[in-house]
Amino acid sequence: MAKYIDPKCRLCRREGEKLYLKGARCFTPKCPIEKRGGQIPGQHGKKRTRGRISGYGIQLREKQKAKRLYGVLEGQFHRYYELAIKSKDNTAEMLVQLLESRLDNICYRLGFTLSRSLARQLVTHGNVLVDGKKVDVPSFQTKPGMIISLPAHAAKFDFVAPNLIEKNAPAKWLSRVGTQGKIDRLPGRDEVGTDMKTNLIIEFYSR
Ligand code: SF4
Repeated sequence: MAKYIDPKCRLCRREGEKLYLKGARCFTPKCPIEKRGGQIPGQHGKKRTRGRISGYGIQLREKQKAKRLYGVLEGQFHRYYELAIKSKDNTAEMLVQLLESRLDNICYRLGFTLSRSLARQLVTHGNVLVDGKKVDVPSFQTKPGMIISLPAHAAKFDFVAPNLIEKNAPAKWLSRVGTQGKIDRLPGRDEVGTDMKTNLIIEFYSR
């Protein structure tokens, strides 16, 4: 019998690695990547792995992987690249920092949720406060020093409460006490824990 595979899992299978898009399920043996070893989706998935991938193809896949990881569409991702190249700082470092300082990603990194998509849902439904004010835009750019918190009712959501009780540790550049988190600083490229080859993404856009 055919088995339903969530479209999010198809994105991971397309990239051939775990992008952790589904929260708790990603850490169980039910993850299709664990079971199938990252077979490309579709009837001819295996055959499509045989051809030699061009330099352009490698760069394209790296860009697609980063977009899917952060849940960002092409237009917005390209805008991040343009901001990064205009910056006086290192382009690769700036691109990572722009993606990491999105409000939905910060909620995920603070440990409020187990996936960025759930963090995005938390934000869009108006359950996240930035410096005490409601912000419902997932792409909102946070800055060091900002306080990100959840109102009391949001801390009781079933996709939030277990993470707070288990003291899910936030990322190194963030701090959190209960439902209140703080952005201590922006992360370095080597601190984000993702195998994102930013140089390939930059080469893709600068062709
Ligand atoms: Fe699906 Fe998560 Fe596994 Fe990706 S990592 S394939 S989203 S279960």
